[in-house]
Amino acid sequence: MRIVIVGASLAGATAAATLRDEGFDGEIRLIGAETQLPYNRPPLSKGYLRQQERFEDQLVKPAAYYADQRIALTLGVRATAIDAKQKLVELEGGERVAYDRLLVTTGGRNRTLSVPGATLEGVFQLRTVEDCDRIRAATRRARRAVVMGLGFIGSEVSASLRQLGIEVAAVEGARVPLARVLGDEVGQALAAIHREKGVELVLEDSVAALEGSDRVERVRTRKGRVLPCDMVVAGIGIVPNTELLAAAGAEVDNGVLVDEHCRTSLPDVFAAGDVTNHLHPVFGRLRVEHWNNGYQQGRAAARSLLGGAQPYDYIHSFWSDQYEHTLEYVGFATRWDRLVFRGRLETRKFLGFYLDSGIIRAAVGLDRGGDPDDPKADGELKAAASLIRNRVSVDPAKLSDEAVELRSLVTPVTGR
Ligand SMILES: Cc1cc2nc3c(=O)[nH]c(=O)nc-3n(C[C@H](O)[C@H](O)[C@H](O)COP(=O)(O)OP(=O)(O)OC[C@H]3O[C@@H](n4cnc5c(N)ncnc54)[C@H](O)[C@@H]3O)c2cc1C
Repeated sequence: MRIVIVGASLAGATAAATLRDEGFDGEIRLIGAETQLPYNRPPLSKGYLRQQERFEDQLVKPAAYYADQRIALTLGVRATAIDAKQKLVELEGGERVAYDRLLVTTGGRNRTLSVPGATLEGVFQLRTVEDCDRIRAATRRARRAVVMGLGFIGSEVSASLRQLGIEVAAVEGARVPLARVLGDEVGQALAAIHREKGVELVLEDSVAALEGSDRVERVRTRKGRVLPCDMVVAGIGIVPNTELLAAAGAEVDNGVLVDEHCRTSLPDVFAAGDVTNHLHPVFGRLRVEHWNNGYQQGRAAARSLLGGAQPYDYIHSFWSDQYEHTLEYVGFATRWDRLVFRGRLETRKFLGFYLDSGIIRAAVGLDRGGDPDDPKADGELKAAASLIRNRVSVDPAKLSDEAVELRSLVTPVTGR
């Protein structure tokens, strides 16, 4: 059997490796538009941006791994079309690659920055290591930066630039950073941290224009603020790279639609990672942009490619590092009617539980990790994940009581 994977990053490389881990002995070909070996992006807004980490240490798998495992790599080449009837992928340059099963892990790309002045020198967006290298080069000369958007990328870049000693003003439309995902109270706590670190927060405002003769010199906001700067980093979100699949006839709606087995609507065509809008047994349909999902869904897709019947039911989680703080989140909640805290917000060491009709949908922790080197190995958030998976109806008083072990609350509600 020939398995072809289009998109050579976290989800694609993880899937290729999992195929071998599962004992698949057939052909694997991993095709990617970027010229580098598959690498992890999280350090691009953190240690790598601050020049504290090396690119070689961010690879998903070491360079020798692919040859050792007979995974054929085609890098720096874009797939241009999928013919799902003939089972062919067409590449830039005209090569046609036959497959028996195809996995698409094309991720996302930065949303186009459409404000006036977007093409001035010194204006950046961040997705790839080349983007990051350009930003790194600019930080060597910059004294003042403006960050557009205080989502995760904007928040982390603001933190890293401050850590590099650059003055930062951050422009965000909402009342607080990360309001949509974390809500106002947690957002206030994060806003206070940024302010303390010297970031000027320009909230409930947006960028009207970037101005300068060749290079960006200032940012003008809709409310009339003028923010002088030597560089701008826009963290305004991504769009999923669904065009290949859409043109081939797959169903697409904010990502390519896949079922619980990572199957698209096209026969023998699967998808995983940021590009998918996937059906989840606990959360329903969703698209997330988390490293943990790229990894876990990459693994799940590999098993499905081999005929496995286990649905992909990972309870989503992510982390974000800002300054010396680590934020962790588990679950998925776009709305909640109650937010219960364990630990006080002002202490900046708390857990927040997002409840909807008494059921926990998600939890966020700030600096609650037991092991600071491994933010993903946190016992409390693991217990929270079990509560979320089992749709446990919990007594808020117990959730907020530090003396009550979260694990003791994990008793599934029957009859759901
Ligand atoms: C700066 C930054 C910091 C991040 N920090 C965190 C973090 O702290 N925590 C967290 O949980 N997540 C973080 N993320 C998100 C995480 O990196 C993504 O969720 C993850 O990269 C998704 O992996 P993926 O393989 O699905 O897609 P991607 O990483 O987007 O990879 C898709 C690949 O497919 C290639 N491709 C696209 N179209 C084609 C085509 N037609 N032909 C061939 N190849 C194609 C692309 O070039 C790309 O290499 C961060 C992301 C960025 C950019």
